[in-house]
Amino acid sequence: MPAPTSRRIADRIEAAVTSCARQGVALTELRRQVFGLILEAGTPVTAYQLLDRLKKTRKGAVPPTIYRALDFLLARRLIHKIESLNAFIPCIDPAHGSHSAQFLICRTCGAVVEVEDRAISRALGNAAARQGFHATHALIEVTGECAACVAAA
Ligand SMILES: [Zn+2]
Ligand SMILES: [Zn+2]
Repeated sequence: MPAPTSRRIADRIEAAVTSCARQGVALTELRRQVFGLILEAGTPVTAYQLLDRLKKTRKGAVPPTIYRALDFLLARRLIHKIESLNAFIPCIDPAHGSHSAQFLICRTCGAVVEVEDRAISRALGNAAARQGFHATHALIEVTGECAACVAAA
């Protein structure tokens, strides 16, 4: 996965500030900083890695500081939590409606790619509905090897 350029990161932060303002909430300096760290990382980052990085500029940062910011970013759909890694990545498209998504996780290099295949979401929704189950949230994590690692092997 190519490292995101600082220009792109700045654009994404600016877009997040605007979308939060439209929703009547503020992307505070701290939330902006945590979001920036997740965007910069390029691979999934854990809360503790974020805390370490945040401490470089905020000496007083403690775990609740990070968890509150992460909760906010998750609720605003700016980031995703990869449950199997207990780590966070930026959402590729914070505007995507249902926010059902699939993640391809490379075991070799750690890269995670988010794909949003509506056919998968629909099939899953239908399968759940046949069980009389009302699905509200579905994140699928697929483990394997990315194209670059397969090519390098
Ligand atoms: Zn997403
Ligand atoms: Zn890989």
